[in-house]
Amino acid sequence: AAAALGRQAVAILAQVRDVVVEHEEDLGKLDAIAGDGDHGIGMRRGVDAAAAASEGAEGASVARVLTAAGEAWSERAGGTSGALWGSAVIAAGLSLGNRETYTSEDAAAAVRDFVRAITELGKADPGDKTMVDALLPFRDTFLTELDGGTPVDRALAVAAAAAESAAAKTAELRPLKGRARPLAEKSVGHPDPGAVSFGLIAARISHFIDS
Ligand code: ADP
Ligand code: MG
Ligand code: MG
Repeated sequence: AAAALGRQAVAILAQVRDVVVEHEEDLGKLDAIAGDGDHGIGMRRGVDAAAAASEGAEGASVARVLTAAGEAWSERAGGTSGALWGSAVIAAGLSLGNRETYTSEDAAAAVRDFVRAITELGKADPGDKTMVDALLPFRDTFLTELDGGTPVDRALAVAAAAAESAAAKTAELRPLKGRARPLAEKSVGHPDPGAVSFGLIAARISHFIDS
């Protein structure tokens, strides 16, 4: 059972890679408006390395697959988002550990730990116009749905929709963290690249799990 769950984690990382590859160019253009234009290529390098590392760990537990993926992601992506994503994937892996089955409480804890890794490392506050502005609505929606008895796959779908709409709403904000800060004025009217990529990834994982 542990190896089957590990395989599921490998399959999910392949989906993450595919959705980033599909949007690589758009994410780069979005980051070029006020940032340095490398969000597409950086995410691409990160997810390529993470998916490859996860395949190398195939047959292992969820924890092994995700820690290998997260380490590769941080190491190879470069850039702020790569370090944040890498540490978050590792944190989710450590949270999930090596169990035979997972409960909705386990899923809730993994999401909490994923988000905490990013806020602890990046120290962005809500409204700073970073991926945190999509992550917090994602987490809070997920936890609220699970508390209300919604099954994990359905809770994930609702949370992913919340992340996507929150990512779109970051267009109204002025960046207070990261490389987009010096050109903050240019960024207004356009969503934050890291928030957008998180929304896309959350939606893809939700679709995959539902299918
Ligand atoms: P870099 O900014 O190093 O070029 P990327 O372009 O890959 O890295 O990622 C930019 C994204 O990283 C931003 O759109 C934002 O969402 C996210 N980001 C930047 N700084 C922080 C931070 N301190 N906390 C959380 N997210 C951040
Ligand atoms: Mg950048
Ligand atoms: Mg950069």
